[in-house]
Amino acid sequence: MLADVVIIGGGPAGLTAGIYTSRAKLKTVLVEKGLMGGQVANTAKIENYPGFEEIMGPDLVEKMVAQARHFGVEIMSGDVVEVCNSELCRSVTLEDGTVINARAMIVASGADPLKLKIPGEKAFMGRGVSYCATCDGAFYRDLTVAVVGGGDSAVEEAMFLTKFAKEVVIIHRRDKLRAQKIIQERAFAHEKLRFIWNTAVEKINGENFVTSLDLVNLNTGEKSNMPADGIFIYVGNKPNTDFLKGVVALDESGYVITTNEVEASSPGMFAAGDVRRKLLRQISTAVGDGATAAVAAEKYIESLHG
Ligand code: NAP
Repeated sequence: MLADVVIIGGGPAGLTAGIYTSRAKLKTVLVEKGLMGGQVANTAKIENYPGFEEIMGPDLVEKMVAQARHFGVEIMSGDVVEVCNSELCRSVTLEDGTVINARAMIVASGADPLKLKIPGEKAFMGRGVSYCATCDGAFYRDLTVAVVGGGDSAVEEAMFLTKFAKEVVIIHRRDKLRAQKIIQERAFAHEKLRFIWNTAVEKINGENFVTSLDLVNLNTGEKSNMPADGIFIYVGNKPNTDFLKGVVALDESGYVITTNEVEASSPGMFAAGDVRRKLLRQISTAVGDGATAAVAAEKYIESLHG
C-alpha cells in the first residue's frame, strides 16, 4: 500500500493531522489498533475543549472521525509492529503483514493507562478492576467504588462515577491532589466523594468479583481493609512507542523527543499528541500538534520534490 502520509493512531492528534493532510490533497492512511479516539473515547465529560461547553468523549470522537472521513482520510484497523524510517525506506508494518509505504509519517499513537502491578489487579480485571469509568461506571449502581490516583483523570472520573455509585472513595498516595484547582474544588464539595490520603492499595481481594482492598498508610505503615465493589485505576499513562525503539530518540519515559515543529529525530517522521514529550497533554494540545505535524509533513514532502 502506498500513501503520501501514514498516520499511526486515531485519537485527536492523528485525526486532526489527517484532516489537514487530506485537505492538502495528500493521500492519507490512518492506522488505529483499538477504539478510534484513543483515551478520549474513554472519557466521560469534557468541558475544556473550546467550542463545546460540555461534550461526552465518545461524541467528540464521532465528530472528529466523521470530519476526517469527509475529507478523505482512509482509516484502517491494525496494530503497528514495525516502523522503518531511513533514506531507504519509510513504512509501517502491521501485525497481519500489511506494509504501508509513505513519504512522511506522523506518529500519534498516544499513551495507555499504567497498571498498579499489585496482587489481584490482573485477576479481577473486568470483574471489579477497571481503567475506564465511562465504559464500566454503570455497573456500579448503588455500590461502593474506589478510585486510585490524584490527577485530573482520577478526580474527574471519580466525579463521573458518583452518578452511579453510592459512594466513591479516592485513594491517593500523597495528601495533595495533582488535578487542576477547579476540578479539586468541585471534588471536595461533592457529598458522595470521600478521600483517603497518604495511602496505597496493596492488594485487591474477592472471589468472583472484587469485595475489598488491602490498604497501607504510607506515613505510619498502618494496614487496613476497605470493603469495595470496584476499583478504578488512574495512575498515569505509558506512551505507545515500543515499535519506535531504535528508530527515533525517546526520552527516559518513552515519549518521542521532537523539535518545536514536532519533527522526531529521524527525518520525515513527526510526532503529535500524548506520545510526544511536552508540558501539557490535553485534547486541545493534541489537536494543535496534529495540525503542526500535518503542515510539517506537507513541507517535508515538498522538499523531497525540490
Ligand atoms: P497524571 O496527571 O500523571 O496523574 C497520575 C496520578 O496517579 C498522580 O496523582 C500520581 O500521584 C498517581 N500515581 C502515579 N503512580 C502511582 C502509583 N504507582 N500508585 C498510586 N498512585 C500513583 O495522570 P492523569 O490524571 O491520567 O492525566 C494524564 C494527562 O492527561 C495529564 O497531563 C492531565 O492533565 C491530562 N488530563 C486532563 C484532563 C482535563 O483537562 N480535563 C482530564 C484528564 C487528563 P502523584 O500526584 O503523587 O504523582
